[in-house]
Amino acid sequence: MHPSLEQFLEKIHQRSQNYIGYPVAKDYDYKELYPFLDYSINNVGDPFVESNDMQCKSLEREVVAFYADFFNAPPDNHWGYVTNGGSEGNLYGLYLARELYPNGVVYYSESTHYSVQKNLHLLNMDSIVIRSQSNGEMDYNDLAEMIQLNRQRSVIIMANIGTTMTEAKDSVPKIREILSKFAIKSSYIHCDAALAGSYLPLLGSNDFDFKHGADSIAISGHKFFGSPITNGVVLVKKSYKDRIGRSINYIGTLDTTITGSRSGFNALILWYAIAKWGKEGMLKRAMTSLENAAHLRVQLNSIGIKAWSNPNAFTVVMPKPTEAICKKWQLATDNDIAHVICMPGVTREMLDKFVEDMKTAMEH
Ligand SMILES: *Cc1c(COP(=O)(O)O)cnc(C)c1O
Repeated sequence: MHPSLEQFLEKIHQRSQNYIGYPVAKDYDYKELYPFLDYSINNVGDPFVESNDMQCKSLEREVVAFYADFFNAPPDNHWGYVTNGGSEGNLYGLYLARELYPNGVVYYSESTHYSVQKNLHLLNMDSIVIRSQSNGEMDYNDLAEMIQLNRQRSVIIMANIGTTMTEAKDSVPKIREILSKFAIKSSYIHCDAALAGSYLPLLGSNDFDFKHGADSIAISGHKFFGSPITNGVVLVKKSYKDRIGRSINYIGTLDTTITGSRSGFNALILWYAIAKWGKEGMLKRAMTSLENAAHLRVQLNSIGIKAWSNPNAFTVVMPKPTEAICKKWQLATDNDIAHVICMPGVTREMLDKFVEDMKTAMEH
């Protein structure tokens, strides 16, 4: 191996041992898929329209079908594709919403992922930022007030199903209630379920799905399943999507996705992860993560650190530790808080070492 690569491999291996601040699973093994890396598998364009033979769209459609069922999408009216990640799925949801309601206003809480603002800018959509409660969940009174002030315009909601910092969930039923209270005629709800969307339904917590009023949902595949290449899935109602596709002769398919070429290998990864774990394996991994989060909270509380979590969250929020600890454990911080995310593959051993470091830092 080239010395530069060797050096990088060593470094990335080392750093992965202390990687507890970002929501990516580490317990994956895709070696069975390595032979496919010798081929240029490109799922260009619409996964439901076949293109040339160097693609795996049939497997991609199985991934979409899995999530459609998972999120109670209408059986005859859904569509989706494998994205590059959650951000692209959010962009897609907003894009559809804009095509449906060009005069709509997008409402999103101040705890929303940073990429959403950029996407709104790209799409040139009007938006209003809604205050958050202290746990990171949308302030529904503020939302109601803002919607009332703009009640003549269509309402587009970007709901967080697990915010980036505290994994707070906005309540789609509460949002729906507000929409009916003000008799809003046209509305659209996109759910950003990047991390939590892949396990909440397994815990019986699915009040953000299509049955409960979502119009589109995006998840990140590289978070809960884990993946060496970032990916995700976006699901929408097919009737909405049909308004934007354009047939392109050159690729022999419909250009209904945000990017042109799309990694077929990513579809293989998601297909493989779903086939390997199944819902049972997914639930088991989620339960272990929740138990680890509870363990970490107890340990931190026992040394006097006010650590807390939202319900059903892998994320443990705490006052921002020292700079050295944040750096060593690669913790994401926001003002005066930081978090550890107990993703599958983050072990008790790692967490206990982290608590040990926190203890030592407090004693000094
Ligand atoms: C990670 C995350 C995103 C972005 O997903 P990517 O896969 O990084 O593009 C969006 N929203 C939330 C809440 C996230 O946690």
